[in-house]
Amino acid sequence: MSIMWSPWHGCRKVSEGCKFCYVYRQDKAHDKCGADFYVTKQFNLPVKRGRDGEYKIKSGEVIGTCLTSDFFLDLADDYREKAWDIIRERKDLNFVIFTKRIERFKDCIPSDWGEGWDNVWIGCTCENQRRAEQRLPIFLQVPIKHRVIICAPLLENLDLTAFLSSKIEEVTVGGESGINVRVCDFDWVKNIQRQCIEKNVSFTFHQTGARLRKNGKIYIIPRKYQHSQAKKAGLNFDGETPCVSF
Ligand code: SF4
Repeated sequence: MSIMWSPWHGCRKVSEGCKFCYVYRQDKAHDKCGADFYVTKQFNLPVKRGRDGEYKIKSGEVIGTCLTSDFFLDLADDYREKAWDIIRERKDLNFVIFTKRIERFKDCIPSDWGEGWDNVWIGCTCENQRRAEQRLPIFLQVPIKHRVIICAPLLENLDLTAFLSSKIEEVTVGGESGINVRVCDFDWVKNIQRQCIEKNVSFTFHQTGARLRKNGKIYIIPRKYQHSQAKKAGLNFDGETPCVSF
């Protein structure tokens, strides 16, 4: 995603995947706490205009939305309606929202949401089988135009077959980044890829994480190579709908 929009910052840990949350990690490096919630100065970023009166962000861009928090966090309830107003105004941009709180989705959508907006992708995160079985039935039920399953950080082998259908546009998988993080096994990644191919659902291995186990051996992969090494694995697959470049 070329443009990041963080209307608010700070989050609360909600499940196993949050253990080494990068928001907490980065904030700690600056003597701050990732749990401290605040609305950021870039709240209006997508609707900012230049001196010529044109939007600063050009039409067609993919906007990584709320990546230093969770868009559906309860602490953001008072501000989300305004964020939806911005997303509604910029129908020409593609907003990608990842969440570990899909159970809050129905209570957090605007009144004119209908069956979903064309310019919004929702990524439901499932880091292990327990969270997949808890979140994906809700994810498949709520009205969304573009659904993506995010298996990151991938913590164990997953069986997603019950949830893969034409309702899912893509499954994207990644290991965990950081120091002393949990291992991602290459066989788990290949297993999800196989399930996606069988169901003709697009698949992306977007990053290896810092510790990748392959054929029983653990490889430590520096941050700068985690995306390129994943791509090099050659597992990406275009299903019924082509992969969106997140
Ligand atoms: S939901 Fe995401 S941003 Fe929030 S604590 Fe968990 S990993 Fe961090």
